[in-house]
Amino acid sequence: MRRKQRLFTPGPTAVPPEVLSVMASPMTHHRQAAFEAVFGRVSERLKAVFQTSSPVIIFAGSGTSALEAAIVNTLSAEDEAIFVNAGKFGQRWGAIGKAFGVRMHEITVEWGEAVAPQQVDDALKAHPNAKAVFTTLNETSTTVLTDIRSLASVTSQRDALLVVDAVSGLGADELRMDDWGVDLVVSGSQKALMLPPGLAFSAIGPRVQEAMQRSTLPKFYLSYAKALKSLADNTTPFTPVVPTVLALDKALDMVLEDGMEALWDHHRRLAEAVRAGVVGMGMKVFAQRPSNAATAIALPEGINGSALHKKLRDEYQVTCAGGQDHLKGRIERIAHMGYYDQFDMLVVLGAVELALSELGAPVRVGEGVGAAQRYFAGE
Ligand code: PLP
Repeated sequence: MRRKQRLFTPGPTAVPPEVLSVMASPMTHHRQAAFEAVFGRVSERLKAVFQTSSPVIIFAGSGTSALEAAIVNTLSAEDEAIFVNAGKFGQRWGAIGKAFGVRMHEITVEWGEAVAPQQVDDALKAHPNAKAVFTTLNETSTTVLTDIRSLASVTSQRDALLVVDAVSGLGADELRMDDWGVDLVVSGSQKALMLPPGLAFSAIGPRVQEAMQRSTLPKFYLSYAKALKSLADNTTPFTPVVPTVLALDKALDMVLEDGMEALWDHHRRLAEAVRAGVVGMGMKVFAQRPSNAATAIALPEGINGSALHKKLRDEYQVTCAGGQDHLKGRIERIAHMGYYDQFDMLVVLGAVELALSELGAPVRVGEGVGAAQRYFAGE
């Protein structure tokens, strides 16, 4: 019998049926008024999601294309910059910068911990010519939330731009680009925005629009200047992902229905319930400063994380995400960003505690689900 598949990965995430059905509409051409009206509307409404009055560019690409765009549009070869390596995605900033000949200085953070604002301050003192600091809102590989507000209070006193990868955090964790003084925020469609992969977003603040003028790194497809010129006419320089842009319009109806505070609050409740569930079943939460986008369970000694992951995915059809690099086998990550509600959380916790128990872990079956339910009951 074909059984129900459930997706709890930190991207791609589940897509609501009403969003999927928009994508099945007959194809339209993008160089016409009807599509331009949609494109103008989504570009304008994305500002609310990023909490900015600055323009938000949409590229056809995965999240990494927006990371690359952030580097090639703000820097020049031989420039110095700082990046926070607190996990796989922080590391990626370093790798992209180096690929373009930028002198990338690393702030190394133990995976599972969050960078301290003092470390960024110290790095900027050690490298006073650094043009930018690159960091990550939710470091998806560890599920740690970075204190962006405090980092921005350090960078906004200096010439260095603060560039935030919010590919997985946007919409799940509070981020106030303008109020906090963040210069550039990038994100992707396949996470909390409840869309398939394929759109990459870049919200570019005033200091970035100045830096663009000086940047000489090579760029063509990912040029902010080209994208901004087209955006003024509610269009894109190259063919957009038409169905996903239409889907974005629908998803934004849902995301913005009650406002960003309500959306962050929704994610906070799901995350707190899952964390209560993890502790309730007798496990530990891995992240020292956990995000509201996803939760990593620290697996006990003797439990093979790959076996857990496979059991969940292949026997229960509940797909979560394992650990990456040296965290492989040591953590299992449950996503709760996007199209999820409290009952989804009870399902995933129930599956995890059953699977752990079958693998011989010292879990108290039913206690994880119970703890989450008691959280939702307000106890
Ligand atoms: N940054 C973060 C924080 C992510 O979670 C991801 C994807 O999981 C990326 C960047 C890369 O995005 P993509 O795989 O869409 O290129």
